[in-house]
Amino acid sequence: MKNEYLQDLMLRLAARNPAQPEFLQAVHEVLESLEPVMEARPEFIREGVMDCLVEPERSIRFRVPWVDDTGRVQVNRGFRVQFNSAIGPYKGGLRFHPSVNESIIKFLGFEQIFKNSLTGLPIGGGKGGSDFDPKGKSDAEVMRFCQSFMSELFKHIGPDTDVPAGDIGVGGREIGYLFGQYKRLCNEFCGVLTGKGLSYGGSLARKEATGYGLCYFTDNMLRANDRSFDGAKVVISGSGNVAIYACEKAAQLGAKVVAMSDSTGYVYDPAGIDLDLVKRLKEVERRRIRDYAAQRPGAQYHEGCRDIWSIPCDIALPCATQNEISEESAKLLASNGCFAVAEGANMPSTPEAIAVYRAAGMLFAPAKAANAGGVATSALEMSQNSMRYSWSFEEVDNRLRHIMTDLYHNAAGAAEAYGMPGDLAAGANIAGFLKVGDAMLAYGVV
Ligand code: NDP
Repeated sequence: MKNEYLQDLMLRLAARNPAQPEFLQAVHEVLESLEPVMEARPEFIREGVMDCLVEPERSIRFRVPWVDDTGRVQVNRGFRVQFNSAIGPYKGGLRFHPSVNESIIKFLGFEQIFKNSLTGLPIGGGKGGSDFDPKGKSDAEVMRFCQSFMSELFKHIGPDTDVPAGDIGVGGREIGYLFGQYKRLCNEFCGVLTGKGLSYGGSLARKEATGYGLCYFTDNMLRANDRSFDGAKVVISGSGNVAIYACEKAAQLGAKVVAMSDSTGYVYDPAGIDLDLVKRLKEVERRRIRDYAAQRPGAQYHEGCRDIWSIPCDIALPCATQNEISEESAKLLASNGCFAVAEGANMPSTPEAIAVYRAAGMLFAPAKAANAGGVATSALEMSQNSMRYSWSFEEVDNRLRHIMTDLYHNAAGAAEAYGMPGDLAAGANIAGFLKVGDAMLAYGVV
């Protein structure tokens, strides 16, 4: 980073948030790509917009006590970071995973500001979650946890204030328990959460949206570079919500997905992943990916999820978690002929990995733009809730496809306009920032 003010801002931020490496990594990446904007529009620094941008408007941390099936009291920690509401109510998922801490939630909330702006819809940025691990818990334990979590969170959210959704560890079951408790506490049936079940205000195609949107975005990027999914060999990490529907759409677009993973290992299936089997194991039976190989002749299971990137492929779709592609993994992908990486997960590539993609001339679709289809469709769910109306699957899917196409062109256009043609990461940061930054300027110091 060359801009002296931004360098100093980064130093002050690091001094103030010493134990938050993921948050600092995310801010650094964004500020670096905004340097040309600061030259063209110095008022963003002069009027304090950049200083305000890196500080959450509000950060809530709370105790979540609940009783397990043996009668013991367990205590987890809950978070909600309401980062920026310049262009709409805070919007972003809840993550339930043992790795959750303030740094992870702040990194995700910060990224969400630009992602949400890029969708072109009126939504601000936020994120939340808990270090609770739903894995291995009974439905009754998950319910008691969710009810306790919402018993505090409900004071801070609302359909025009802050609208959480799912993320890692928070799917339809958890959203149901959370919504039920909100409704009971507030005596209000409203669009306060997205990712809801279809019988109580959910949107068709929300479940599919992040994975489908990732493929729509990637398809635009590939076509602009005379490539396509058709006939391509694809590796997808993860086997959760994003991974499953990325696999479905990639296959519909003519690709062959040969590997998927979970946090303990990966399966390689040279004949192409049997997605019905993955869906049954993961969505219905909540089993491990290793059970796939036991039920599918010709498939191999390997312990250790990171080695999935050693499988030769044309396109890599990381859809599990942050920093899952290291420099070494990126080098393996490049040397095995991979020509495109598109991020379904948030920040799955380390900065060193991204440098490898660039040096190797690979196409790179950054998470902020490529996985924005989930939150975009959440915003469509909010619209349907406000209208008390539901659109058909085709209508929502069609809107999603258009949003992802516009988003690709906006990111590519901003990169071009600021002298970095083809750099979608910089383009996404710039296009996402400009709308938020202009709104913040309009408000004055607030
Ligand atoms: P899920 O919980 O449905 O699935 C997550 C998948 O990733 C699981 O297969 C899980 O394996 C694996 N995983 C989780 N943590 C790790 C880890 N530390 N190491 C290796 N594998 C891991 O989550 P989603 O599919 O919803 O989310 C995946 C990513 O996509 C996240 O980065 C999320 O922030 C991002 N995202 C999700 C959106 C959505 O709409 N759901 C929207 C935009 C982004 P296991 O089951 O073993 O834990």
